Amino acid sequence: MDLGAVRGNVALLRERAAGAEVMAMVKAEAYGHGLVPVARAALAGGATWLGVARVAEALALRSAGVTGVPVLVGLSVPGEPYAEAVAADVDLVVGAAWMLDELAAAAPRAGRPARVHLKADTGMTRGGTGPDGWPALVDAVLAAEAAGTVEVVGVMSHFACADEPGHPSIARQLTAFTDMAGHAEKAAGRRLVRHLANSAATLTLPEARFDVVRPGIAIYGLSPIPERGGFGLRPAMTLTADAALVKRVPAGSGVSYGHTFVTERETTLAVVPAGYGDGVPRHGSNLLEVLAAGRRRRIAGRVCMDQFVIDLGDDVLEAGDEVVLFGPGDRGEPTAQDWADALGTISYEIVTRVGFRVPRVYV
Ligand code: PLP
Repeated sequence: MDLGAVRGNVALLRERAAGAEVMAMVKAEAYGHGLVPVARAALAGGATWLGVARVAEALALRSAGVTGVPVLVGLSVPGEPYAEAVAADVDLVVGAAWMLDELAAAAPRAGRPARVHLKADTGMTRGGTGPDGWPALVDAVLAAEAAGTVEVVGVMSHFACADEPGHPSIARQLTAFTDMAGHAEKAAGRRLVRHLANSAATLTLPEARFDVVRPGIAIYGLSPIPERGGFGLRPAMTLTADAALVKRVPAGSGVSYGHTFVTERETTLAVVPAGYGDGVPRHGSNLLEVLAAGRRRRIAGRVCMDQFVIDLGDDVLEAGDEVVLFGPGDRGEPTAQDWADALGTISYEIVTRVGFRVPRVYV
């Protein structure tokens, strides 16, 4: 895990954010890269906020000593340990009135008001409240503020299609956000911290940057809009495994479960100790490529829970030699984006699913 790449990517995003602050999205174990080391690297690169999905993630940051920086829990779920979150100075999202009941109970236990961000549903149709319910939600939050259970810090929303430049929903969401944020600020009688932009918007939509941007995937060096190139970002994750076994087999050998790969001639196979239990997608059987002995090789046969096989032909590899599953691409290895393209998914899923049996090594 290249923390220098994380620092560099955050610095680049900060520059592109042109004055807006950067909230580094480190949810889901920093998209599989490792929560605390990445959070620290992002802060070193110039991020001034951190964003996670769940309260446990925010508390893990605080327990690790990541303090003095706002941490926003983006997903509000009934029954989370909100009193602990408030006591640990964690920012929370109010997207629906039920959250105010949770916070009315949590704040007295924590001995302080909860710092909250209002979530507007401007067209993602997921979390938050839409324009119709917005005035009532704003009134309820301000009443809670007057009662001392919350302190309204910000107003936020999330794009549905920022990775499709020119999509008509982008302009609609921007207008709705400006209107809804304006309404909340007028009712509150002060400016709030406005934030809307994910990686794609940070990199391509200057008008969406507002006060804080919330990039995730770009921090890890992966493009939010692959068809528009890499934006000068550097992938941080390289996934490797050392060959467990190399053996010569005759023509006609069926390989791995189901014998979906059969050797056409005598050949050398290597067993690579990484499987779907480690995040190598089983759909990548007979499909995904890895770098071994200087060349790309396709996975031969089915990916198993702990291992897969590659066909080396007559090339030489020793047990213990490194196989690169994906990385920045410098050595000719596939990238996480290459794997995503082959599988018909997004790079987010490739890096986030790398299991925690795989040791994270930070350089
Ligand atoms: N903001 C919110 C609320 C999110 O849910 C996410 C991720 O899904 C992000 C920002 C970061 O998005 P991206 O990784 O596309 O930059």
